[in-house]
Amino acid sequence: MKSGRYWVTWANSHAKNSQSVEDLEAGFKANAKAFIKALTDAGATVKVSTTKRSAKRAYLFHWSWKISQGKCKPSEAKKMSGVDIQWDHNDLAKSKAGALEMVKGFGLAVPPRSIYPPSLTSNHIAGKAIDMTITWSGTITIKKNDGTGVKVTYMKNVNDNTVLHTVGASYSVKKLKSDAPHWSYNGR
Ligand SMILES: [Zn+2]
Repeated sequence: MKSGRYWVTWANSHAKNSQSVEDLEAGFKANAKAFIKALTDAGATVKVSTTKRSAKRAYLFHWSWKISQGKCKPSEAKKMSGVDIQWDHNDLAKSKAGALEMVKGFGLAVPPRSIYPPSLTSNHIAGKAIDMTITWSGTITIKKNDGTGVKVTYMKNVNDNTVLHTVGASYSVKKLKSDAPHWSYNGR
């Protein structure tokens, strides 16, 4: 089956993402829960979009992003067992359009929000990463893991909010600064 919207539907039943913090790896789960509790206790709203991701879904994310953004030729996409997708429509414009339908259907962040393709070895696959959107208004005081409060002012681009990153790091939840919603055990 050629790349396109079909694969979004396919992945949503055969290669599901989890949005549940409960599906994270045990150690990272405890840290992520503690950080989220500190955020919500401080008055922030936390919307989790992804926790654990299937390897097949990561594969579809990676190549649809790269092809749609012109970062590789459709013929360069690798094969994956169990995912019988045809990336190359034998027409570059159609191949890119099919890939872009998937990028949009999956809701992937593209430049300038995220400048790298979704990883094939993402920490999400191991349950050691979480995508979440954190919002509040003005300045709030968020508790670090040692109990001290830190004043953090809301910034539209979370990648620039290094004070917030410091608070997350105190819980061993580290920001990947090139990917707006992404936090993980090692910042990758
Ligand atoms: Zn992520």
